[in-house]
Amino acid sequence: MDRRVLEKCREQLQRQMDELLAGAGKTVSDMTGVPEENFPDPTDRALLESNRNFTLRIRDRERKLLAKVREAIKRIDSGSFGDCEGCGGVIEEKRLIARPMTTMCIDCKTVAEEEEQK
Ligand SMILES: [Zn+2]
Repeated sequence: MDRRVLEKCREQLQRQMDELLAGAGKTVSDMTGVPEENFPDPTDRALLESNRNFTLRIRDRERKLLAKVREAIKRIDSGSFGDCEGCGGVIEEKRLIARPMTTMCIDCKTVAEEEEQK
């Protein structure tokens, strides 16, 4: 794999990780910053509750994404970055640059997505 492509992907992953970590910190303070007794009205309470559920869903997604980003950086370090986990082939450079945490080549990904839809 081209060293410049590798560095570019690492930079992108690092930036995404920083953003995710900054976002996660903010979400936590949002959730803990508002005491429930400030919302005596049931409507406000319901709104607060749905906001909280929404926040939890986002955090769950962020956590999964963060895990993917971490794994991708690990693959760069171990030299397996860009190997397709489906067929063992090489993932297209363009695809890696656009989405560095990808683990499959376009062919395997297409097959996997078709399987998922069944
Ligand atoms: Zn493949």
